[in-house]
Amino acid sequence: MNKTMPAIFFGHGNPMNAVTDNAFAKSWEGIGAKIPTPKAILCVSAHWYLPETAVTAMPSPRTIHDFGGFPKKLFDVQYPAPGAPDLAGRVKDLLVPASVGLDTQWGLDHGTWSVLCRVFPKANIPVVQLSIDERQPPSFHYEMGRKLACLREQGVLIIGSGNIVHNLQAYAWGEEPVEPYDWAVRFDKKVRTLVTDGNDRQLIEYEKLGKDARLSIPTPEHYLPLLYILALRRKNEPVTFPVEGFDGGSMSMLAVQFG
Ligand code: ZN
Repeated sequence: MNKTMPAIFFGHGNPMNAVTDNAFAKSWEGIGAKIPTPKAILCVSAHWYLPETAVTAMPSPRTIHDFGGFPKKLFDVQYPAPGAPDLAGRVKDLLVPASVGLDTQWGLDHGTWSVLCRVFPKANIPVVQLSIDERQPPSFHYEMGRKLACLREQGVLIIGSGNIVHNLQAYAWGEEPVEPYDWAVRFDKKVRTLVTDGNDRQLIEYEKLGKDARLSIPTPEHYLPLLYILALRRKNEPVTFPVEGFDGGSMSMLAVQFG
């Protein structure tokens, strides 16, 4: 019998985490060493935010360096994990009646590979990405997550990659650690409490959570992957937060794990 796979939201933060031996990257490595080896990985990435739902369906997804202004060593990173066209087809079927495009153009963006290159450095587990449909309300994304829950029983590790607090305007670039903003700390804590209490409704309706939420989520794409992961929680399943902390003052690196 298959072991139920965990479902994990990762705060990916700065793409340099892929090539920097900091506490975040070390925690990601620890997660990979601890959890059962999945048959395949399905990743909902903040960096594939477009006006449709699509799933990567090519046999060999390319590594996409979807950023600028970083050192060459980051552009040199390749994550040559195979794709999983069969899983892409299953995802499409599970998400009916939503229309899901089988994509052969995209690949693995840094939302996916900057984390996976630390969690599963061998890049030998097939990976499929799911886009976030920017036209849809938060409740839609939560419902999509629910439809995917059965995959956890089939050896598929579902991950969401974004950031619960993600304000680039306030972000302090550079190597020097900076204190996180008060509003960022408060909102991170609020989300932890709501997740621990299973208060998914308030997390879906995050726009009602006031000024701290507005500053933490100036645009929704880094927050929405969390809703997919929340929806995968089994009844009374405990939650852990295997990565925590802030980067650049305005980015929460919190990871949320069920199972
Ligand atoms: Zn990002």
